[in-house]
Formats: sequence, C-alpha cells, structure tokens
Amino acid sequence: MRFVIIMSVFLSLFNPLKKYDKTELAMGTVVTITLFDKSGKGNLLIEEAFKIASEYEKLFSSKDSESILYKYNIQKNAVIENNEILKLINDSLYYAQLTEGTFDPALKALISIWDFEKIKEPPSNELIKYAQSRSGYKNIKLSDNKLYLANEASIDLGAIAKGRIIEKMAEFLTESGITNFMINAGGDIAVSGLYNGKRKWNIAIADPYNRSRTAGFIRMTDKSIVTSGDYERYFTASDNRRYHHIIDPFTGYPADNGLNSVTVISSDSTKADALSTAFFVMGLERALEAAEKLDDVEAVFIYKKEQKTQITVTSGIKTVFHENLGFEFILSPDSF
Ligand code: AMP
Ligand code: MG
Repeated sequence: MRFVIIMSVFLSLFNPLKKYDKTELAMGTVVTITLFDKSGKGNLLIEEAFKIASEYEKLFSSKDSESILYKYNIQKNAVIENNEILKLINDSLYYAQLTEGTFDPALKALISIWDFEKIKEPPSNELIKYAQSRSGYKNIKLSDNKLYLANEASIDLGAIAKGRIIEKMAEFLTESGITNFMINAGGDIAVSGLYNGKRKWNIAIADPYNRSRTAGFIRMTDKSIVTSGDYERYFTASDNRRYHHIIDPFTGYPADNGLNSVTVISSDSTKADALSTAFFVMGLERALEAAEKLDDVEAVFIYKKEQKTQITVTSGIKTVFHENLGFEFILSPDSF
C-alpha cells in the first residue's frame, strides 16, 4: 500500500498534467478544444475560449443581419471602427493579391447564389455572370479605415475567418499559461506544445472520398493545419456532378481542376486558411509551385488521376507525413 502511494506521488510529480477537452458547435461546425493543464483551470479556460470564438464569429459574419459586416455590405460606404475587422479585411486583400485573386474576399454575390442550403441545381449562366459582375476583391477600396465597395460588391470572409478565430483562441490559451493544446474547428486545426507534455500531436488528414477514413497523418507541434475540401459542403445535381462550396472567382463555378482536398500547414492559421482555399482553386501544379516558394507554408494535395487516388506533399513535410491508405504517394519534385 505504502509503495502504491509513494509511486503515485512520484508519478504525479513527474506527470502533473491533466487532460481537459470539450466539443461544441461553433463557427458552423464541430469544435473541440483539448488541453493539458496542472493549475486546475482547464474547464474554465475552455469555456472562455469558446466565448472568444462566438464573439469573433459574430464580428466576422456576413450572414448575420445584426453584424457590422452585413451593414457595410448594404451601405457600400463606411468608416471601419472595429480594428479586428479592419485588420482581417486588410489581410484578406493581402492574400487576394498574393494568390492572384484565387482567394477573394469579395465573392458574396457568387456565394449567395450558390446557396448550398437552398439549391439542388446549379444557378443559370446568366445569374452567374450577373453575380460575377458584382464580385471581385478589386472592388474593395480601403484607404486607412474608409471602406468603399464598388460595383455593388459585398464582402464574405468565410474562407479566412476561421483561421483568424483559431488564432485568437490560441492566443488566449497561451496568454493564460497553457502551452499544450489543440483546437480543432471542423478540420481547421491549431496545435501548441505537446500532447500530454510528452509527444507531438498526431493530426489525421481525412480521406476526401470517405470521411470516416484517414488519408494520412502528420506529427506536429506549434502549427496550424487547415484543410479545404470538396466533400465538406456540396450537392449532387441531376447531371450527376458534385457542386461544392469553393468557388473559382474566374469561372463563377465551383473549382473543378481535379483536386479533392488541400491541407496547408503554417505557423500562422489565418495564412493557412486563406491559402488552403486559394490552392484549391489554383489546382495542383500551380498551387504546388506557390507552396514551395512561400515561406512557412507546406501542403498536402489529394486528387484522383486515372481513377487512382494520389497524394502529393511539399518537400518540407515529406519525412513527417505518413500516408495511410495505400494511396500512390508522390513527393513534390523539389524533394528529389
Ligand atoms: P474554406 O472552407 O476555408 O475553403 O472556405 C470556403 C468558404 O469561403 C465558402 O463556404 C465560401 O463562403 C467562401 N469562398 C468560396 N470560394 C472562395 C474563394 N475562392 N475565395 C474566398 N472565399 C471563398
Ligand atoms: Mg480557407
């Protein structure tokens, strides 16, 4: 008995961390926060982090008729008083330029006609053309904090907001003294420190053809891992084609270049979110070239070629990515 007590005191001295986790619906998806803590405040901090998520979600939403962004989209002319909105619009314009408009924060008109909750058939060509004429980031004119939306354009930050919100939640946990945690917002993930203070976090990347399976996994610390896929929100129309939620701004239709899933890994979750959407629109070749050039950016691409599933990863992660399904596994050319 004494031995057991001595052993448990001994073990608690060397492994005093306790695991806390909670799953809630937030940001339109299932969000899980997992953290290791020894101060006893784990549950409280998780609650606070979820509160932060819901505050920022309201701030960055263009759907909520009470939101500031909704108002700007109607007024077209506004002075932005909220610094977080100003910063995210500025960052969005930066990523739109960097990705040559494949990520575009002014696609609200197009996104609204591709309303996956309402339609079961693609919109007409005329409607798509009309929505395109009211879209495009070049219509966002921002000078200091004065915003003008030209050509009836409207802002939608749906492809970048989750990344920024995860960043804010992670910042809060870090400032509260938590070093080992994971935030998983439906596939937009941020990890910090180590699992149980002992080993790197093991991140699974979903098989886009069967979500209950894993295409591969990657061991990471202090990184964000964000996935954009055509399997997340879509409908299959009477032409038997799958229409999904990532729009190619240049065609006005869902991106259709063979990619089914793009994961971006970066220490910056806002960057990872914007780029995962952009890379999905760019297609494999162009996105791979861009990913290899950019600093602090790695990527995993999943697609089918001649009916076979293939995975291509950038050179920086070839030793830490493990494919899981017997897929053909292709390393980026730079890695040879
Ligand atoms: P994500 O899941 O991060 O790739 O973001 C997809 C969401 O962003 C969609 O549901 C739309 O609201 C919006 N979106 C779709 N296509 C684009 C695009 N090319 N650029 C920016 N936002 C987009
Ligand atoms: Mg995104």
